[in-house]
Amino acid sequence: MKTETKRENSLRSIEKIVPPPPVHWVGDGFRVHGFLPHGPLHAERMSPFFLLDYNAKYNFPPSTNLLGVGPHPHRGFETVTIAYHGRVAHHDSRGGGGVIGEGDVQWMTAGSGLLHKEYHEEKFNREGGEFQMVQLWVNLPAKDKMTEPKYQAITNGEMGRYELPEGGYVEVIAGEYEGVNGPAATFSPVNLFNLKPKAGSEIKLNFPSHYTVAVVAIEGSATLNGEKKLPTDNLALFETDGEEIVVRAEEDSVFLVMAGEPLNEPIAQYGPFLMNTNAEIAQAIDDYQQGKFGYLAD
Ligand code: MN
Repeated sequence: MKTETKRENSLRSIEKIVPPPPVHWVGDGFRVHGFLPHGPLHAERMSPFFLLDYNAKYNFPPSTNLLGVGPHPHRGFETVTIAYHGRVAHHDSRGGGGVIGEGDVQWMTAGSGLLHKEYHEEKFNREGGEFQMVQLWVNLPAKDKMTEPKYQAITNGEMGRYELPEGGYVEVIAGEYEGVNGPAATFSPVNLFNLKPKAGSEIKLNFPSHYTVAVVAIEGSATLNGEKKLPTDNLALFETDGEEIVVRAEEDSVFLVMAGEPLNEPIAQYGPFLMNTNAEIAQAIDDYQQGKFGYLAD
């Protein structure tokens, strides 16, 4: 018989509820609210996460032009694309390509660098329809910034799945929830979950108190820690004063949970390059101009 008492984790306070920032377009295919890196959600505070573009639910009409964003470089971080509705196709300068289907995730390690383009998948583009997508940039530790580029194409069925006792489930993309592991390999501790609870379901999540923790309401709404409402398309940022957060679904919902250990390294950014020093940024620009990221046709 166990006699030790289980230590109660302390509740992590809510720092801020952030409504969706004004929309901007990435190319002509992504109508996004740029949550990060802006205002209170600046790079140091949000590390290891750097950028969060959220294409809230939007109905694209049928199109004969292929909608998206043309060839562009990346170096020094990872792009994580989560397709909630609609499908995205991608191609890169190393010959890679594929489709991110509805419910799937593409975890691309840009590392030392490549060129890629991101478009609506051809059939989706032609027919139009509901589109909802997240692109998250996860910073790489200094020692891994120049790692070989790679993809992890994670289909919905490959994600870890934890059935919630009160209804619904948790998809584990990266990290671990209640003993269920996600398939994504990461370079620093990162947890990325889709909570898909039924109305009234209450979910407790625990992360070390120094982790950066945020929740985005993709569908539906929540009450957080029994006190604050998180409306649809809003982001909640939590303080670093405790371990546990409590998410109660007010209706059948989808919440994106991102939690990671801050890298605590200098951040230097210029456009699509995310390094530690200005000299490394200058090097990235130089390498790009010299064609060292390869070639990719429009
Ligand atoms: Mn890109």
